[in-house]
Amino acid sequence: MSFTLISIDNYIEEHLKNNPEENEIDLRERLNTALADYRAGIKCSCGNDIWVVGSASVGNACYTCITGDSYPDDVYEIESAVVRRKDARGRRHIDDIPRDKIAGFFDDDGYEVTPSSVVKAPLCITCQRDYDKDYMISCMMTRFDQQNELIFTCNDYLKLN
Ligand SMILES: [Zn+2]
Repeated sequence: MSFTLISIDNYIEEHLKNNPEENEIDLRERLNTALADYRAGIKCSCGNDIWVVGSASVGNACYTCITGDSYPDDVYEIESAVVRRKDARGRRHIDDIPRDKIAGFFDDDGYEVTPSSVVKAPLCITCQRDYDKDYMISCMMTRFDQQNELIFTCNDYLKLN
């Protein structure tokens, strides 16, 4: 997922610039409602997280169901929606760590990743990269990114001879 994160105030400002006929109070209310639904764990009918920005206009649904595109590219999402992702619970956010203490790995949303908590995919056991220390970090991040996926895929896979 690559949403461009934006605060609710900045988004409203942007949106009103492009849609001058829109009513600010009404827009803010719809965004807050969609955000509250997101936080309450309300999902799209397909099971995905709702896309707050789009849901404020057309009702609660995920990015794919609203736009028909499989992947958001340079699309706005309200930052507090993404930051409160469910699977981020219990992990430290980069903004909450003192600058001089920041070390290790973080996912795209800024949450700390503990390498030992990332489970090795069965595919990795038959892969040369698993023995290559130059790939240690990128392999770990590839697995991490897909830990909630049913099917693991990897572009770096190189079958063991
Ligand atoms: Zn959906």
